[in-house]
Amino acid sequence: MSAPEMLIRGGTVADGSGGDPAPADILVREGRIAAVEPPGVIPGHGRQTLDASGLVVAPGFIDVHSHADNAPLLDEDDTTKIRQGITTEVVGNCGFSLAPTGAESVAAMTSFARRIFPPLDFTWAGWSEFTDLTDSRGYVTNYAPLLGHGTLRIAVLGMADVKPDAEGLKRMGELLDKALEGGAFGMSSGLVYPPAVFSDTDELIALTAHLGRDGLYTTHMRGEGNSLLSSIAETVRIGREGGCRVHISHLKWTGKDNWGNMSRALADIHAAIDDGLSVTKDIYPYPAGSTMLTALLPPPFLADGDEGVLARLSSPEQLRQLATIMEQGLPGWDSHQHAAGWDGVLVSTTASHRYEGKTIAELARILDLPPLDVLVRILREEELRASMVIFSMHEDDVRTAFADRDTMVGTDGLPPGSGGKPHPRLFGTFPRILGEYVRKGSVLSLGEAIRRMTSLPAKVFRIPDRGSIRPGLVADLVAFAPETIDHETDYRDPVHDPVGISWVMQGGSVVVSGRNYLGPRRGRRLTPAA
Ligand SMILES: [Zn+2]
Repeated sequence: MSAPEMLIRGGTVADGSGGDPAPADILVREGRIAAVEPPGVIPGHGRQTLDASGLVVAPGFIDVHSHADNAPLLDEDDTTKIRQGITTEVVGNCGFSLAPTGAESVAAMTSFARRIFPPLDFTWAGWSEFTDLTDSRGYVTNYAPLLGHGTLRIAVLGMADVKPDAEGLKRMGELLDKALEGGAFGMSSGLVYPPAVFSDTDELIALTAHLGRDGLYTTHMRGEGNSLLSSIAETVRIGREGGCRVHISHLKWTGKDNWGNMSRALADIHAAIDDGLSVTKDIYPYPAGSTMLTALLPPPFLADGDEGVLARLSSPEQLRQLATIMEQGLPGWDSHQHAAGWDGVLVSTTASHRYEGKTIAELARILDLPPLDVLVRILREEELRASMVIFSMHEDDVRTAFADRDTMVGTDGLPPGSGGKPHPRLFGTFPRILGEYVRKGSVLSLGEAIRRMTSLPAKVFRIPDRGSIRPGLVADLVAFAPETIDHETDYRDPVHDPVGISWVMQGGSVVVSGRNYLGPRRGRRLTPAA
């Protein structure tokens, strides 16, 4: 449904400013917002109209933390985000972007990517070659890509446990510069994942220095459990010494012993802000996280790519060491398993689709094996291609983090196309915020929650021409029923549409109507606003 002019009538408009939503009509002309006026002021006569009675109309949501880098490459439309009212996704998070790669690194990239992405045929090399390809395939939502530090490292150093020499750092910097010239929105890191787990702070400072004062460094920090505070300190140091803005991805504090302490972490962030650094953050509204199953392994077991990891998991001597480390921990390593327990690790997706929807503790009983043996068995049988949902947070901490100033929302949805039982955040993050954290939980007012999902991320991530409802901006809009919007959270049966999304508009065209995605792919790749 596309018309040169459309009048959206009868709705309550949450314009992204943070103020209370108020009744208003919106005139859309040629894909942009032409006027926003009190009800009845804009004549409806002779105009196509869209009824928004009983609905809140907001700017299309901006998901600042997505892993749907591969969505354009899929033949099937990935509608998991647009059905939530998300019209723009920031991809390339946690240090992993799908470019650049090259002749020497393509094998390492292919095998690392398949731990969590559906099989990918890396036919591209440079950043622009990749974006040319994704442009030609088309986007369901707007695509705002970050460059991944892990990807840079794979391109230059492979998967080894090494530090770059001056030449290696120079090459990484050159690739980073090229991506920034090619429209990257900043650089992300994932310091728990190989090969970034082998990097030190100085390497990150040297690279973030390329971003510039307005540049953005986003980070899945080195630790989110016992070492959260030292990880925040490292992030702040990188921002200060690299001279850029920093954004903490999916802020959380894992492990029972740390529950209830979120305000302590926020105090450190506030101190850095008061000291002049731009520090922002996002959350997803659940007590459970999700990542690749290999993330349960300690860093020394993660070096040298799939071959190295699988060889260690086949060596009796190494397995004895693994058992000791899993039991006793390692200094500076926040063990996911210690934070969640084996009954808090739910296998979500595997290459073969066996084991899905059961915890490691349940599988241990079923298979009559010790839990660690179950983990090793799954990783070996699935050749590391498995992901998990992990219950390691207290939701009160998540609410505290969301209530804090300038916290945004990201789905952290894992790459589409692998099937299985992905974390429900892939389908319901934004509706759940509006249902559980706003309507029922009163963590924030509706107007302020909308600001955190729209104009604030537009400003911080430099998303052009979007994020507010005012004349001149692109008509990316969502209309929802404030009394019912939500998403049922069922970790073992997650694949459901949210409730309460009435319609979604992109560039003036309605693309979601009720439960129907109308297509075609109307998103575009964005480049950072000046
Ligand atoms: Zn992450």
